[in-house]
Amino acid sequence: MKGQPVIAAVSSLLRLLLPHSCVICGLSLAEGHFCGACRSDLPWTGIACERCGKPLAVPLPPGAYCSDCQLRPPPFEKAFAPLLYIFPVDGALKALKFRRQLFYAPAFGKLFLPLLEEIFADVDALLPVPLHPRRHARRGFNQAAELCRPLRRKSGLPVIGNVRRVRFTKPQSGLDALERRRNMKAAFAVRGSLYFRHPLVVDDVITTGETCRQLAGTLLAAGAERVSVLAVARAVPA
Ligand SMILES: [Zn+2]
Ligand SMILES: [Zn+2]
Repeated sequence: MKGQPVIAAVSSLLRLLLPHSCVICGLSLAEGHFCGACRSDLPWTGIACERCGKPLAVPLPPGAYCSDCQLRPPPFEKAFAPLLYIFPVDGALKALKFRRQLFYAPAFGKLFLPLLEEIFADVDALLPVPLHPRRHARRGFNQAAELCRPLRRKSGLPVIGNVRRVRFTKPQSGLDALERRRNMKAAFAVRGSLYFRHPLVVDDVITTGETCRQLAGTLLAAGAERVSVLAVARAVPA
């Protein structure tokens, strides 16, 4: 019995020394958010369209874009998501968004850090996709802003604060492509002037890309020269 307080003290000391644990399997870690095994098992995006980030089975010739981009070129210049929106990423991002499991935000947000230099070196501002004020109030936080936090800290890039979601849109999940397009129409507005030439839109998931298309269109109409898009995960086309 005498040993119990000692064990408790050692265990809290260990927790102090090793405050991190893998967000997927719970293994204690000296640092970071994923253990080696879970990190390598994450569904990393392999071959993807350079324009819209859509995962592809085979690489395209240099300079070529996927059939979606050819049929309906997106207003943004480049979009990329490092992960596929499948297990365990889908569950983790839903838990972040709908069950306030905020510890997932720095874990997945830090995956953005190397990409800023590798893919998006010339952006001059960050824009987490804004939520409608009513949804923001209900949820208490904006998951895109939480995911963007490590990038914001590391890069020192300004975060655009005068873009608003002006229409209370239905959640995009459960809508087909045409409904998604209608649902997002005129969803965003820039209040006042936009002082940035190349904003990087940051989101949790790109599904059909309709939200990013609408937001990029709004930014271009407000004077941006180019818009790029970075999300944690990209839905796998059916
Ligand atoms: Zn793990
Ligand atoms: Zn594409």
